[in-house]
Amino acid sequence: MKFGGTSMAGTERIRRVANIVRKQAAGGNEVAVVVSAMAGETDRLVNFCREANALYDPAEYDVVVSSGEQVTSGLLALTLQSLGNKARSWMGWQLPIHTIEAHAKARVSTIENDNLVSAMETGEIAVIPGFQGVSNENRISTMGRGGSDTSAVAVAAAVGADRCDIYTDVDGVYTTDPRIVAKARKLKAVTYEEMLELASVGAKVLQTRSVGLAMKAGVRIQVLSSFVDDNATPADDHPGTMIVSEEEMNELVERGEMERQHVTGIAHDKNEAKVTLTRVPDTPGSVAHIFEPLAAAGINVDMIIQNVGRDKGETDVTFTVPLADLARAQVLLDDKAEDIGFNRVITDSKVAKISVVGVGMKSHAGVASTMFSALADRGINIQAITTSEIKVSVLIDEDETELAVRILHTAYGLDADDEAA
Ligand code: ASP
Ligand code: MG
Repeated sequence: MKFGGTSMAGTERIRRVANIVRKQAAGGNEVAVVVSAMAGETDRLVNFCREANALYDPAEYDVVVSSGEQVTSGLLALTLQSLGNKARSWMGWQLPIHTIEAHAKARVSTIENDNLVSAMETGEIAVIPGFQGVSNENRISTMGRGGSDTSAVAVAAAVGADRCDIYTDVDGVYTTDPRIVAKARKLKAVTYEEMLELASVGAKVLQTRSVGLAMKAGVRIQVLSSFVDDNATPADDHPGTMIVSEEEMNELVERGEMERQHVTGIAHDKNEAKVTLTRVPDTPGSVAHIFEPLAAAGINVDMIIQNVGRDKGETDVTFTVPLADLARAQVLLDDKAEDIGFNRVITDSKVAKISVVGVGMKSHAGVASTMFSALADRGINIQAITTSEIKVSVLIDEDETELAVRILHTAYGLDADDEAA
């Protein structure tokens, strides 16, 4: 079981979490719980690091920012004990959860499960702070923002859990953001692949990396709300959204428990920025010259378009980078202006990426054209496009985000009172 920051924000809410956990344990389950820091706490700790030293040492940053989860795991263990349960906390270094790669973005390599499994077998509830592990140098490490989801999946894999229930402040994964589209529907199940795409294009329910890990390790994830009253249906009766393999999804469709849709969900992301380089030489290697310095600086490029060459063997190249990296990208490109040989850098931070995702589009033509026509009918201009086997993304003016999401939700027949498209 994993509980997010809003579920852990204060002793009152931790008591509610404790009650949900106890219920699972009372139902005859062996339980390990992974917790986030209280909502807002990690941001507060990150700010302290910035104030203390703008060029902070990532290893010391990890010492500071991992502390939020230490607090909540101890508090949950205390609360469970006060209610009469056996419980104890296990810090990342105590299990241990070994991590590799850089501080502040560590990855789980292995989890030693002996301690955990023997504790759980005695009926003791194990409470584990998410987000933290221990590095090869025996220092505390953290796994990147939102990393508690990944901790939970890794722990579930390590103990061979039947399920990894991720409790959050929404009651599942929706066809789109319900704050934008009132007719958004909760999905009973989503495939790993779809969830991976949805998480990476802006649906903020789960950390992308946690979904990748679950897919690789075959961990069944269920997303559900911790904001339920004491008489709510227990998690075993699947009130949330299950994240499943494609085979399992096909079985659900065959049994009539899920409808087959071409598009499963629509996500939006305003944290992208567009960069255009004008009059780049249209010669072999010039695109490589643009992207090499960005890659070396760890800047992720997402959408890319190269226009048809103009006369004089020149062309414009447009691409997107995360908004947070825009300033750095601009400096890097200006530095390399001579090597690359472009005329001007034009940037635009007021863009949004809208993505439609669904395994159904693998076997169905026309999904992209439905998207383009629906947007065109409402006068929304498309500035860039990318696709994968199960996703079509377009870049549009940020001001049109909400309108575009609503139009597409209707166009693909996802609105709550519609029949399946
Ligand atoms: N507390 C960390 C964060 O806010 C990790 C997590 O909650 O998943 O990013
Ligand atoms: Mg989270």
